[in-house]
Amino acid sequence: MNVTVKIPISEPDLTGNEEAYVAEAVRSTWISSSGAFVERFEREFAEACASRSAVSTSNGTAALHLALLALGVGPGDEVLVPSLTYIATANAVRYVGAEPVFADVDPLTWCLDPEDLAGRVTPRTRGIIAVHLYGHPADMDAINQVAEAHGLWVVEDAAEAHFARYKGRTVGSLARLATFSFYGNKILTCGEGGALTLDDPELEERIRLFRNQGADPRQRYFFPVTGYNFRLTNVACALLCAQMERRESLIARRQQIFETYEALLADVPGLGFQPVAEWATPAPWLFSMTVDERVYGRPRDALMAELAAQGIETRPFFMALHRLPPFQKASQERGETLPVTDRLSLCGLNLPSYPGLRDDDLRRIAGAIKRLRK
Ligand SMILES: *Cc1c(COP(=O)(O)O)cnc(C)c1O
Repeated sequence: MNVTVKIPISEPDLTGNEEAYVAEAVRSTWISSSGAFVERFEREFAEACASRSAVSTSNGTAALHLALLALGVGPGDEVLVPSLTYIATANAVRYVGAEPVFADVDPLTWCLDPEDLAGRVTPRTRGIIAVHLYGHPADMDAINQVAEAHGLWVVEDAAEAHFARYKGRTVGSLARLATFSFYGNKILTCGEGGALTLDDPELEERIRLFRNQGADPRQRYFFPVTGYNFRLTNVACALLCAQMERRESLIARRQQIFETYEALLADVPGLGFQPVAEWATPAPWLFSMTVDERVYGRPRDALMAELAAQGIETRPFFMALHRLPPFQKASQERGETLPVTDRLSLCGLNLPSYPGLRDDDLRRIAGAIKRLRK
């Protein structure tokens, strides 16, 4: 095999009706944020997420920002978030002038630990953003219970977990609101895009208001609030409609890839796989594993460097947000210690995961990981 062929960490699969639908949007001249594909996508995505409605947005970060605006979060408020997540989750809290307070994750789900969460509630806490990390749903019943006990709202950040299931129910329908991303490496993609799903018509109206510059839909050029332009285009929704048609086969292929990785790597000492709670049906987003460097014989970063030299792209787990410059000082002042987050952040690794990977790519990747064990 030609080892100079590079294997990226991710690559969109646009081999269905994507091209035809984009051409249809172009021919129709509806290329801005109104059009048949926007309406169709919002309807179909809401249904697939067992929600009353879906609102498309320019990206997943804008969806989080809109969620917080619509919930009325502002300066002086605190929002509980995991520290082990992509930075967008915490950035959105800062955009509305509030402060993200970090909680640790559960070693059995890698998502918010409900007990740890409860201990971090203060009189300023307004809500919780539960992230379904690396496709695995957070323990939403327990998290919703903590929220109820303290009068808080809950938002799901489902950017990495499209159509994952929690106790048989689909993510996107498990809290007050949920947010999604359709960035190029996500399970469904349109390059850049996002959405919110929810059941509450009043909240939906506020989200649509803030998404569209604060424009009153009943009175042209009347703006009751300062809003944003966070709309998604009909061209992007054309891509998403095509992706929705194939979502089951896209996810089935990803699932096969995950099972193949686990089978090929099962007997490599020092590697650990992402745990799956008994109540969870995770979404196969990025294949995630841990490296115990004493047993594997090589630290994670050294393994990543060796794989990169062989043309295999990998990703380290997210850096713990409470240790990053924008958040570190505030976190230290609160005296936050997050041992599970710290451990996972330093030993976790994502392998190439996308429907277009072939079985011989998987054998090449797993073979390299086996041979690199010392
Ligand atoms: C990708 C991602 C986002 C942000 O989505 P964008 O579309 O890139 O803005 C937010 N949260 C999590 C957990 C993500 O993985």
